[in-house]
Amino acid sequence: MREKFHASLEGNIRTLAFGLPRLGPNREYKRLLEAYWQGSLPREEFLQALEDLEGLRMATYREHVDLYPAGELSLYDPMLDLAVALGVYPVEPFDLEGYYALARGKGALPLRKWFGTNYHYLVPRLPEKPRYTPRRGFFPYPVGQKTPGSAEGLPTLLGPYTLLRLAQNPPERVEDHLEALVEAYAELLEPFAGTLFLLQEPALGLDGVERDLPHLLKAYAALAKRVPLVLLSYYLPPASEVVRSLANLPLRGLGVFPVGEALPKLPPGMALVLGVVEGQGVWRTHLLALGGILPLLEGQEVWLAPKAPLFHLPWRVDEPLPKALEGRLAFAVERLQELSLLKELLTDGQGPAGHLEAATSPSRAYQAARAWYTPPPAWELHPSPPPPPRPPLEVRRQAQQDLGLPPFPTTTIGSFPQTGKLRELRRRLRSGELDQAAYWENIKKAIEENIRLQEELGLDVLVHGEPERSDMVEFFAERLQGFFITQKGFVLSYGSRVWRPPILFAPPRRQEPLVLRETLYAQSLTAKPVKAILTGPITLAAWSYLPEGVSFPEAVMALAEALRQEVRDLAARGIRFVQVDEPALLEKMPLRREEQPSYLKLAQEAFHRVVGDLEPKVQVHQHLCYSDYAALRPFLEAMDPDVVSVEGARQDPAFLQSLKDLPLEIGPGVFDVHTPEEATVEEMLTRLQGYLNFFSPASLWVNPDCGLKTRKPQEAISNLRNMVEAAKRLRQALGGKSPGGGHAHRT
Ligand code: GLN
Ligand code: ZN
Repeated sequence: MREKFHASLEGNIRTLAFGLPRLGPNREYKRLLEAYWQGSLPREEFLQALEDLEGLRMATYREHVDLYPAGELSLYDPMLDLAVALGVYPVEPFDLEGYYALARGKGALPLRKWFGTNYHYLVPRLPEKPRYTPRRGFFPYPVGQKTPGSAEGLPTLLGPYTLLRLAQNPPERVEDHLEALVEAYAELLEPFAGTLFLLQEPALGLDGVERDLPHLLKAYAALAKRVPLVLLSYYLPPASEVVRSLANLPLRGLGVFPVGEALPKLPPGMALVLGVVEGQGVWRTHLLALGGILPLLEGQEVWLAPKAPLFHLPWRVDEPLPKALEGRLAFAVERLQELSLLKELLTDGQGPAGHLEAATSPSRAYQAARAWYTPPPAWELHPSPPPPPRPPLEVRRQAQQDLGLPPFPTTTIGSFPQTGKLRELRRRLRSGELDQAAYWENIKKAIEENIRLQEELGLDVLVHGEPERSDMVEFFAERLQGFFITQKGFVLSYGSRVWRPPILFAPPRRQEPLVLRETLYAQSLTAKPVKAILTGPITLAAWSYLPEGVSFPEAVMALAEALRQEVRDLAARGIRFVQVDEPALLEKMPLRREEQPSYLKLAQEAFHRVVGDLEPKVQVHQHLCYSDYAALRPFLEAMDPDVVSVEGARQDPAFLQSLKDLPLEIGPGVFDVHTPEEATVEEMLTRLQGYLNFFSPASLWVNPDCGLKTRKPQEAISNLRNMVEAAKRLRQALGGKSPGGGHAHRT
C-alpha cells in the first residue's frame, strides 16, 4: 500500500531552484566585471566569458534539479535589468556603457539593502506617467539566452509589485501602474509562449499588501492568461489571506512556502512550490526530519525548492573545515544536492523517518540522508544578569566634565586608509612569511603614523586607525572564539563587491582582548584622548551566519556579553571614550511593523549589555550609517549613547529634523567618505551651519560620515585638514572658548 503511494508520487514531485550565485565558483563574475570596467577585457571577450559562466551555472543546475531559471546572470543587478527591460531608462539592448552608467557612473542609481539581507539593489525611479516601453533584447538579460526560447532554463523576472514597492518613488496607488506593467511583461514574454515563467515577488510578504491585493490579483490573472505563471514569494511568508487569494488564481505554481507554515490545498493543475532547504543559512538540512511533507504530496503536485534565492550563500563548500564543522555545512551547490536527495527519498518507497519504520534494508537515499546530517551541539551559554540602566544623563555629563573638549570637538569614525602595504602585511601573515610578532611590530608602526597624523592635523579625540582590521566584522570574528572564517566563501554584496560572512558555530567567547592592545598602544603615544572602536553586537550577528537553532536575539546577546568584557577592561585601563559601531542596526529592523517593538527592545538591551556597567565618566559613542533618520529616533532614545555619529554629507541638513532636541551630542558627517572628491572648508562650514538649525552649538561634534578605510591617504588628509579648519572657524564665529578652554558651556 505504501509502495503504491510512493509509486504514484513519482511524476508529482519535482525540484526547482533559483538564485544560484552569479559570482561563480571562484569569483569569476567579480573578475570579469572589474576587468571589463578597467578596460583590460574587451567587450566581446567579456560577453563571451559571461556566457561561459552562465553555461557553467546552467550545467550545475541541470546536474541536480528539474526546474531552474535562465537569464539570472545580470550584468550588475536584477532590479536594474528589470527597469531597463521595461524601458524605464533609455538604454538599448547591449548598450553596456549606458547600462553601467546607471549602475556605477556619476549620477548612478542609489543602492539600498535588499529585504534586510546584505545584498544591495539599485533603486530605480518609476516614470511619472505609467508608460513602459519594453525592450525585448534585454530579456532575459543580455547574457544567457541569445535566442529566446532556444536555451534551457525558464524565463524569470522580478515582479511588478516588487518593482513598485521598492522604487525610489513608490506610487500611492499601485493600480495606476499595474495595467501598463502587465502589458509590458506580457510583451517581454511573448517569445516564450508556452514556457513556464517564474515571477519573483518577494514584496508580497511586506506590510500593506492587503490594500493592493485586489489590484494585484487582477494583474496576475491577466498575466496568467498569457503564460503558464509560477508565482514565487520569499523572505517573508505572505499573510494567509493573501495566500488564499493567490491560490484562487489560474497559476501553474505557487510558492515559496517554508515547510511548517499552514499550507493551503491548491487546485488541480497548480503546483505547490515548497521551500524545504535554507537559502540564507549554512547548516545542512535534516532531510529525514521532513516527514511532514508526505501528507502534502497526496493528490498534489509539489516542487521542492529553497526558501530563498541561493545567492546569499557561497558557491559550494570547497576547503578544509575545522572538526566541529566537518560534514555540517551546505552552501548553494549543496542545497541543490539536498533537493535532489530529498526528491529521491520521497519517491524511493521508503520516505523520511517518522513515516517509515526503520527500514530493514535502507535505500540508498535513506542512507545518504542519514549520513548527511549531524545534529548541532547544544548551545550552552551562561546568561549574564540583565544589563543595568545607564546612569542618568546629568550624572554622565557631570562625570565627563574633565574630558577637556573644546566646543565642536573633532574626531573620526575609526578607520584610516587601508593601504596596499597593510593588505600586503596581512597576506604575508596568512602565508606564514610573517610571524605574529613581526606583524604586530608593523601594525604598531601604522598606529603610530596615524596618531602623529591626527596630532599634526589637530584633531581632538583620536583613534588608532584600525590598521589591523581588514573588515569590521571579520576582525572580531577572528579574535572571538566560536567563529569560523572561510577562505573561499564569498557572496555578492552589490555589483562586483563581495564579502565573506563569518560562520558563528559555537557560543562566542572572548579568550583574548579584542581591541585593547591596539587602543592602549595608541593611547601610550599621545596626551590626547584615544577613542576605542568596537563593532556592535547587532552588526556582528547581522553580518555572520548564525548557528543552527540559535535565534538572532540569542546570538546578539551572547556577542554583547563578549563585548562587555572588552569594554570593561578598556575602562579599567583608563580609556575614557568607547565607540560602538552599529551600521547594521537599522538594516536589521524587521520589515513587518508588528515585529519592530521587540527589535527595538533587543537593540536597547544589547547596547546596554555592552556599555551598561561602565562608570559614567566613560563617554559612550555610537556610530550608525543609515539614512532613514525618522526610524532612528526611537533607537537613540532607547539606547541613550552620550554621542552619536551619523552620515550626513550627502543630504540636506534638514534630515536632522526628526532627531531634533534629542538629549544627546551628535556628529552628523561633514564630508562624504565614498568619493575621492575633496570637500572644501566652506562646504563643511555651510553644512555645520545647517546642522546648527537643529542642534545647539553645545551638542555638535565635527566628524566625517564614516570610516576612511577606502580613501587614499592624501584624500583622507586633505579632507581632515579642511574639517579641523572648519571647526576652528566655527568656534571663532560663535565666540566659542579656545580649545581645552572648557567643555563647560557644552553641558
Ligand atoms: N569604525 C568603522 C570604520 O571607521 C565603522 C565602519 C562603518 O560604520 N561601516 O571603518
Ligand atoms: Zn559608518
